Amino acid sequence: MTIALYNTLTRATQPFEPLDASNVRMYVCGPTVYDWAHIGNARPAVVFDVLFRLLRFFYGEGHVTYVRNITDIDDKIIAAHQATGEPIASITARTTSAYHADVAALGCLTPTAEPRATAHVPEMLAMIGRLIEAGHAYVAEGHVMFHVPSMAAYGALSRRNLDEMIAGARVEVVPYKRDARDFVLWKPSADSDPGWDSPWGRGRPGWHIECSAMSGRYLGETFDIHGGGIDLIFPHHENEIAQSICAHDGRPFARFWLHNGYLMTEGEKMSKSLGNFYTVHDLLAEFPGEAIRLALLQTHYRQPLDFTKEGLVQAKRTLDRFYGALRGTVATREDRLSDEEADKEVIAPLAHDLNTPAALAVLHERLASLNRASSSVEKHRAARALLAAGEPLGLLAQDPEIWLRRADSAVIDEAAVNAFIEARAAARKARNFSEADRLRASLLAEGIILEDTPAGTTWRRA
Ligand SMILES: [Zn+2]
Repeated sequence: MTIALYNTLTRATQPFEPLDASNVRMYVCGPTVYDWAHIGNARPAVVFDVLFRLLRFFYGEGHVTYVRNITDIDDKIIAAHQATGEPIASITARTTSAYHADVAALGCLTPTAEPRATAHVPEMLAMIGRLIEAGHAYVAEGHVMFHVPSMAAYGALSRRNLDEMIAGARVEVVPYKRDARDFVLWKPSADSDPGWDSPWGRGRPGWHIECSAMSGRYLGETFDIHGGGIDLIFPHHENEIAQSICAHDGRPFARFWLHNGYLMTEGEKMSKSLGNFYTVHDLLAEFPGEAIRLALLQTHYRQPLDFTKEGLVQAKRTLDRFYGALRGTVATREDRLSDEEADKEVIAPLAHDLNTPAALAVLHERLASLNRASSSVEKHRAARALLAAGEPLGLLAQDPEIWLRRADSAVIDEAAVNAFIEARAAARKARNFSEADRLRASLLAEGIILEDTPAGTTWRRA
């Protein structure tokens, strides 16, 4: 079996072979941390989590490097600070941990590295310096601008013509720009705003250079996959390509570019004024994270997705059926099939450009087999097969009991949490630490954080 991925760069589905099978490298643009993540931010987190799982399956867990950055310096963050007076460090720390809690509840694995932009300013300064030296950037009125006409191949990813690029870049007319498409690498900061000393004065980086510098730092000049939402193709990804290739003497940047499609909610573009603006945090108060994950994976990642609350209700019911069938059939996680026994029939559609709807259809076949099984031996085998089918999708990893005890309420109740704390204490007493960790992770996925104190284990909601 081989992997094939649709590459936005070539507009074709191509066989995927990593540059180095011992270290497959993927970069995905992460959140700008100034507010709660919305469901549109959740889609790439879940889509590229499935790709991360697939790459780990093919190349081994220790052989995939997945980098997802945190943009913690940005005009939106400064605007949030100006609006509320909350210190910037507090805004970014608070919203970063909220993002982590959200994506954990959606069943996403932690990336290999999550670099923060503010921790990588020296790399950005070095890259900007190289671009100036090589004649691809110029200094003007405290700004450093990338000069787009200096790169002949500019626009290869988005395939826009000159007029479209000028319109799409939403360019401000500023007198110091040599070309309307030129974009900011470095800009001056007001004394009250965050800033770093640079050869061009105190200032801060533009958004695009952050990703070029951090991907270079963690993955090298040329790496395998770059992902993000379709809305990032232009100008963000186009500009990342220009910066990285020009700073690296023309050597290639990312080989495969993957983009997830647009997301609408309740049939319309998501907007606060329409009342269809869903933060992940608010949705998690009503629905389990796994239902949100399933709802996101029911549509192929490149298709536009209409995310609705009715769809979430259906996804929750679907999972109720899965967990209901699994209840009592599989005692421990050790009973699950190991990676080597992973369900090839689920892996095959995923390996063909992440066809999650086809993979989910296999899951439903496994459920039907489980429901047909009569003897306990058959049931056990069918349940293991269903769990194995869920694993590459990041589904069905919870304890069926915990899922079903929640019944119709989205929020797990206190009695269930206490039952879990007792089960975990028993597992620890029996030195079954993997089971204890699994129970803790199950609760974390429900937004319940356990804290071990000398007086015993306490819990709180995330
Ligand atoms: Zn980016």
